[in-house]
Amino acid sequence: MGLLRNSLCAMALSLFATPPGNAATLVEPTLHLKPQAVEGGGRVALTLDACGGKTDTRILSALVDNRIPATIFVTGIWLKRNAAAVEIMRAHPDLFELENHGGRHIPAVDMPRKIYGISSAGSPDAVQAEVESGAAALASAGGPAPKWFRGATAEYSPSAIAMIRKLGFKIAGFSVNGDGGSLLGAKETARRIGAAKDGDVIIAHINQPTHAAGEGVVQGLLALRAKGMTFVRLDDADGVGNDGTTE
Ligand SMILES: [Zn+2]
Repeated sequence: MGLLRNSLCAMALSLFATPPGNAATLVEPTLHLKPQAVEGGGRVALTLDACGGKTDTRILSALVDNRIPATIFVTGIWLKRNAAAVEIMRAHPDLFELENHGGRHIPAVDMPRKIYGISSAGSPDAVQAEVESGAAALASAGGPAPKWFRGATAEYSPSAIAMIRKLGFKIAGFSVNGDGGSLLGAKETARRIGAAKDGDVIIAHINQPTHAAGEGVVQGLLALRAKGMTFVRLDDADGVGNDGTTE
């Protein structure tokens, strides 16, 4: 089941084409950082999803060794299985902000449908349960309460967005799809991440240690750092999203 969830998670962000008939009702919000005059190459936010499965220690080690801050979106499933990685993240609160990717990695869509083959939560109650169980899992793992939510597949129904905002969470879109759901090769992943501009919010995955994309994530981040880019977490910056996700 874990493997299945991982594959679905990987698939989800790799495809941009929405099946016919779905386009009108689901949104995939973007998120940007407010422009800020800084010396050097600008600011970007690195967000990494931990949908399920394991930990890509290539990425985790590179972040620690190079002191690159990141916002990690974790599910209840991933938290349960990755205690060692959670311990490393908690040991570096200056680097890692842990946020809510849902209890069971179920898309936050409040009507029954499939998104990239994954069954949606299917009702308002089920969306609420996914959001609240993700927050509860983080609370029981210690550390500060999450303030941001990102649903599985990063697609939402507008009514689910309104509900999640009422539950007190901002919704984390993105502006650079760094690793195509972790299915891209190392070279293309490095190219996409290395091309991030001031104000971008990058999404990639930290739960696929066997995929080539993880190597590209590290290369892309080091390239950005070499250009003088500053990395911030979502809590350190004013992120502005569309579709009612942050205001
Ligand atoms: Zn995910």
